[in-house]
Amino acid sequence: MFESTFYNAIKIIEEIEAKGHRAYIVGGAVRDFLNDRKIHDVDIASSATPTEIQEIFTKVIPVGIEHGTVIVRYNHQSFEVTTFRTETGYTDYRHPDQVEFVRSIYDDLARRDFTINAIAMDKKGKIIDPYSGKLDIERRLIRAVGNPEDRFTEDPLRMLRALRFVSQLDLEVEPATLTAISKQIHLIKHLAIERISVEFEKMLAGANFRTALKLFKELNVWTYFPVLHFDRSLIKCLYDLPISLLKLYECFAYLKMKDDQVDMKQLTKSFKQSKETFRNAEQLVTSLVEYKVDGLSNWLIYKFPESLYESFFRLVKALFHSFVVGDLKARRKHLAIQSRKELAVSGTDIIIWYPDRAKGQWIQTLLNRIEYAVVENQIDNNIDAIKEWVNSCHPPENN
Ligand code: ATP
Ligand code: MG
Repeated sequence: MFESTFYNAIKIIEEIEAKGHRAYIVGGAVRDFLNDRKIHDVDIASSATPTEIQEIFTKVIPVGIEHGTVIVRYNHQSFEVTTFRTETGYTDYRHPDQVEFVRSIYDDLARRDFTINAIAMDKKGKIIDPYSGKLDIERRLIRAVGNPEDRFTEDPLRMLRALRFVSQLDLEVEPATLTAISKQIHLIKHLAIERISVEFEKMLAGANFRTALKLFKELNVWTYFPVLHFDRSLIKCLYDLPISLLKLYECFAYLKMKDDQVDMKQLTKSFKQSKETFRNAEQLVTSLVEYKVDGLSNWLIYKFPESLYESFFRLVKALFHSFVVGDLKARRKHLAIQSRKELAVSGTDIIIWYPDRAKGQWIQTLLNRIEYAVVENQIDNNIDAIKEWVNSCHPPENN
């Protein structure tokens, strides 16, 4: 099991060790492996410096050399390889002031946030676990490495990471760590919102999100969050969610559907999310409103991007407590047209049909109506049928 899960990582470690350095699997991969959970990416910590790693492997992407991190591409997989390091202070609450490369894995583990994340595994699967992280996984506890208050002052993001691990891993926060969070939570106001957003998104996505949200409420974490802090009812909406939402744009769309006063543009902006996040949220809301009125029409399926299907399913479940029945992809394939380009008529045809009319917005409006009628099977997609349909009962508008 260990060998097959970490096959490529073990190969990387062997190559690094062949050059006289040491290397271990660390972080979330070890935690998730010991916790019998699916492993996402595998991080490696090594005594080799980024330059030394660059000399060993052919494909190395220098993503954060100053922090000792490079990405090694190996057998079409990416591995973050980070030099053993310690950190001193986060004066700006964003980046460690100073990163110092060290020679021992023990010093590297000491800078990590929680005991469950401070375990290293060698190429044979033997663990180095100076803070009894394995025991904490068994006891189901999130415990800070070292003095929790100091660790949270150093980097307040760790408090939000604790909540997201509660949600993702169904663990409890150990009492002293929890007390420290309640004392230090105000420090999160100094954090960059982008860092906060990443943890918030992961917190909402976890299976145990409700327990995490309970802490979010009780520890007053929400009072330091944009938008949420001036509308407490939004927390209640989130708390009422019957399932977890995997993306922030799903959360924004959900809140908008629950409370029409919600301004999604402002939400997106205050969480410093991309324009794409806003567009996705907006697309979801438009479709959900249509779905509420007309159910799953051909038009909805036609207009809706496949990349958002899963989000749409989740939101239908979350908002209307129902399931989308049928295979949307198959239904989409069987629509009369797949895109506007496949329409049997174009603007040029319409101009020819109405030579006396000045060109204007009416052409687009008519094309939109034709497109809708074809998708909804009200007319066949052929030029004669469409012309007949327009002439007999759907003449163009005036402008
Ligand atoms: P995920 O499953 O989301 O990747 P992860 O624990 O691997 O979870 P990462 O952000 O990938 O989280 O970080 C990798 C490791 O780096 C962590 O397990 C932890 O040991 C350490 N780490 C990450 N962020 C911090 C932090 N803010 N303070 C201290 N250690 C951290
Ligand atoms: Mg990770």
